[in-house]
Amino acid sequence: MPLLSRRKTPSVRIGRLQMGADHPVVVQSMTDTPTADEAATWAQTVALIEAGAEMVRWTVNDDAAALAAVRVISRLRSSGIETPIVGDFHFNGHLLLEKYPDLAGALDKYRINPGNVGRGLRHDENFARIIAVAVRHKKPVRIGVNGGSLDQEIHDRIARETPDLESPNRAREIMVRAVVESAVESARYAMELGLPLERIVLSAKMSSVDETIDAYERIAAACDHALHLGLTEAGGGMRGIVGSTAALAVLLRKGIGDTVRVSLTPEPGIPRTREVEVCQEILQSLGLRDFVPSVVSCPGCGRTQSVLFQELARDIRTHVSRRMPEWRKIYPGIGALRIAVMGCVVNGPGESRHADIGISLPGAMEDPAAPVYVDGKRVALLRGNAIYAEFTGLLEKYVAGRFGK
Ligand code: SF4
Repeated sequence: MPLLSRRKTPSVRIGRLQMGADHPVVVQSMTDTPTADEAATWAQTVALIEAGAEMVRWTVNDDAAALAAVRVISRLRSSGIETPIVGDFHFNGHLLLEKYPDLAGALDKYRINPGNVGRGLRHDENFARIIAVAVRHKKPVRIGVNGGSLDQEIHDRIARETPDLESPNRAREIMVRAVVESAVESARYAMELGLPLERIVLSAKMSSVDETIDAYERIAAACDHALHLGLTEAGGGMRGIVGSTAALAVLLRKGIGDTVRVSLTPEPGIPRTREVEVCQEILQSLGLRDFVPSVVSCPGCGRTQSVLFQELARDIRTHVSRRMPEWRKIYPGIGALRIAVMGCVVNGPGESRHADIGISLPGAMEDPAAPVYVDGKRVALLRGNAIYAEFTGLLEKYVAGRFGK
């Protein structure tokens, strides 16, 4: 089934970045450093940007964070780094944005959670004060609803209005309806307050893949706002990556989503940039963006000459990673490169022909020779101990010829 056409959304300007409409789906991430720790926030922000984050969010939770944010943004801009910085506000966003006009002006976007702006009459008043600052500074706002901090009044009202379905799904239905209503109604109120459609982004994150998909589909059907996709409290490691991938892939495949963040619980030894890598892999695997060359390799099986195949697949991936910093600078479009490293004659020649450049290693019991294919044609037959060196030589020649023009 081909990718369904992208949902129509307005083009949203965030600093120098454009998202929504026909712009590429934007990769973003969020620091986990205390924003008041300027050195740590600077270092992690730069690392995320170097890894490919196109927008970075910081928590802005108190005076110290507000003042530090202004200084770090100034340092980023004077270093020539224009990546948009988003301020994440909860509970006191109206106070901080009014108290620090430099902060309101320096941030490229504000993120607010309608479940965390106050209760009762205070809710609308505080929300309106934040929107007024955004209107004054011409800044976009993400209205980010989160299942874990849902506006309780909306939840309770939806619960009263939802008939007793005698269904085990009643609680789920109430939750999804409440999340959707909170997002859509908050956006409607922001527009009444003067924030235009093209300065509003919505998100509706939940910790369940199924509920997240359902909520985003309903929001997409109910309004035209640009959408930020993500699964909240996704967890860490394999669970977080698989859960986020499952939710985002289904939505993106339906043309829903203008920017993505994969939220992973920090783990010792795993850099924050893993979030960016996962976003890039999701978008690239769906054919929506090209970030790094793809190395297609088979899983290997009883026909593989295991050691040679495993080592070559690993070494070619390493070669690509090592060369990418330079390739990225001198070869625009290098992310579209497709390389195949296959383990035997069964699928090797076919997959290698489909790649831009591919090598099919000899399986057990086969003639110990490795055909190399370039743009579908066999160009060499490699043998012996120099296979890696000769193949990477052909790879470099191909890259220079195709991307160096
Ligand atoms: S290409 Fe050959 S070695 Fe690789 S998985 Fe298929 S049969 Fe096994």
